[in-house]
Amino acid sequence: MSTSQEIWQKALLLNKILVEIVQPLLCSMEIVIKELIITNRKSICLRIDNNGDLIVIAPYYASEDEIKKIVQKKFNWIVRTRQFVLQNNKKINNLNLKEGDTLLYLGENYSIVLHNKNEILIDAEKKIFYLPFGDKTTLRRKLMQFYLVKASEILKIELDHWAEVMNLHYNGFRLKNAKRLWGSCGKNGVINLNWRLVLLPREIIAHIVIHELAHLVYKNHSRQFKYFVAKYSPNYLEKEKWLNENAYILRLFRED
Ligand SMILES: [Zn+2]
Repeated sequence: MSTSQEIWQKALLLNKILVEIVQPLLCSMEIVIKELIITNRKSICLRIDNNGDLIVIAPYYASEDEIKKIVQKKFNWIVRTRQFVLQNNKKINNLNLKEGDTLLYLGENYSIVLHNKNEILIDAEKKIFYLPFGDKTTLRRKLMQFYLVKASEILKIELDHWAEVMNLHYNGFRLKNAKRLWGSCGKNGVINLNWRLVLLPREIIAHIVIHELAHLVYKNHSRQFKYFVAKYSPNYLEKEKWLNENAYILRLFRED
């Protein structure tokens, strides 16, 4: 057992290692190690945060060499993941709602066309989003209202459909503005779904709905739970991979 003082000294030493040895490896790529977290976990873990910066999470007994090796070994991953995060950030920040910009709806990109009517219309065939003229804040508010209405319609249909197929009963649903969750299953059989589901492809919406309904039977993510989900959501691992790769959609239309 190490005392907290020893751990603290080790943390200072590791920080020195990061600055003197690991950081120069990354400098050519403009990658910054933002933080070193010393934990009780057993292995070293690298993470890229929402700004594209690297976070190193290491056990307090990690050695200089171990950290250096991991960063070298994962160098391609660091560069790739960082590029991916920065590209997604562009998509989030470029949401200016100008003519010609694109908006997501049911997994497809719709082009924005401004029109003289004071309502939002969509042309599913031509993949056009008609928006009224107006300042960005007003447009954004109207657009979110539009998405919320569509989300409650579409998600109700999905939930009812899959509840019947899976022979389950749910006690209503709520639309959520959650930061990290696509959905959750409440205690009283109420299903919570992120309204941004309406931005995702139909088969992904179905997968999330199936996942949350399955929690009415299994409260955990056990093997039985996964087996149950897989019964209704084939290739569910691919769908989960898709969700991981498109997690930035959870950050669209956020003020904070
Ligand atoms: Zn779950």
